Amino acid sequence: MSQLPKCFVENLKAERPNVANQVLDAIKEAKPGTSIRVNPNKRFPVPPGATSIPWAEHGYYLSGRGSFITDPLWHAGAYYVQEASSMLIELALKQHGPATPCKALDLCAAPGGKTTHLASLLPDDSLIIANEVIKSRATILSANVKQWGNPDVFVTNNDPEDFASLGAFFDVVLVDAPCSGEGMFRKDIRAAAEWSEANVALCASRQKRILMDAWEALVPGGLLLYSTCTFNRAENEENMDFLHNETGCQWLNLHLNSSKAITEIDAQSGTGYACYPGVTRGEGFFLAVARKPEDAQVTLPKTKNFKRKKHGNSPSKTPEYLLPFLIDSRAYTQEDHSSIPTLVKDIYKSDLYKIKSCLNFRKFGVFPGELKVKNFIPSHELATSALLNREAFIQNEVTLEEANLILSRNTFTLD
Ligand code: SAM
Repeated sequence: MSQLPKCFVENLKAERPNVANQVLDAIKEAKPGTSIRVNPNKRFPVPPGATSIPWAEHGYYLSGRGSFITDPLWHAGAYYVQEASSMLIELALKQHGPATPCKALDLCAAPGGKTTHLASLLPDDSLIIANEVIKSRATILSANVKQWGNPDVFVTNNDPEDFASLGAFFDVVLVDAPCSGEGMFRKDIRAAAEWSEANVALCASRQKRILMDAWEALVPGGLLLYSTCTFNRAENEENMDFLHNETGCQWLNLHLNSSKAITEIDAQSGTGYACYPGVTRGEGFFLAVARKPEDAQVTLPKTKNFKRKKHGNSPSKTPEYLLPFLIDSRAYTQEDHSSIPTLVKDIYKSDLYKIKSCLNFRKFGVFPGELKVKNFIPSHELATSALLNREAFIQNEVTLEEANLILSRNTFTLD
């Protein structure tokens, strides 16, 4: 590890005296471990030597570091490589999340770690909008969402302020905010090189803006999750206090089951939760959870300065030839999105038309495939989707070498 910024070290010692030395030793000495979260919708043998992450039911620490990019199971969405501490959102959703289907927004979503986690945690039939403001990152997010295979996750590419056009709309909003990344110094040396006090201040003020946009997008009674992967007070508890002062929000407590791995952080307005390398088996992470009061004023949709796009409500029809290939062919019907056929769950359609009228979708429904002459050629997206009826296909085990031939777009002959 190269030299840490002097000012960062001083701030850490001043703001987190109880853990600073452990954190600094861990950053300098230990190598970060690797962890994965297994997809409960896909069959995947947990790798030998893997051990459970206490706060994530399907999370595992790996004993070594594999090459995921050459692993067909990773391409099939059987697991997601995700830092262990950031799986902490599971604790919040299990303790305070909705028990019935809901609408959720992951406002800063790329590359999709927490989106795919939300998809596994929220009740079935929930609609998830995963948003990413940076176009190129929205493309990566879409690819990861397709790979994970939950057909009810949609991807938008908008600035958080654009969500004002919808008013109070979502039951759960996750703000995994862009931050100064102090918690990632051990994993990503660029984060330490780019750190400066000015950047911490910039991040903190950007986070305030995003938090206010997120709050407006929440329905009364809705749940806000705010997280960063940084240690400093300005981006964590000072932002909790800011949101509390602006909105009167109440921060919720998490039961930690006497785990010493997670540190309680006292803000003036409530408690946040932090993971520290050296204390937690994972990188730096901070989480605070708030409920919007039931009697909060409902934010109405704003259309000012925003061009509403026209959209055609094309009649829904799923072609007969497609039905045998779908597991839930009654619940999902075919829609045209930008002239491309996609499968969308009927129960969300009116919500999706509303979103479509003001936001920019990058992934809408599931593209099922193409009809070529008389043959239906399923898409890769359908192949990795939970919508696929596997029984409609002849199934054949392949070896790792054969699976890799498919991934590298080569052909081979099956018996
Ligand atoms: N939630 C993601 C995950 O678990 O995989 C990681 C999100 S990362 C910490 C923060 C994201 O916020 C980045 O993808 C970044 O592009 C995006 N971002 C950057 N500036 C932003 C802004 N002004 N408003 C909203 N999001 C922003």
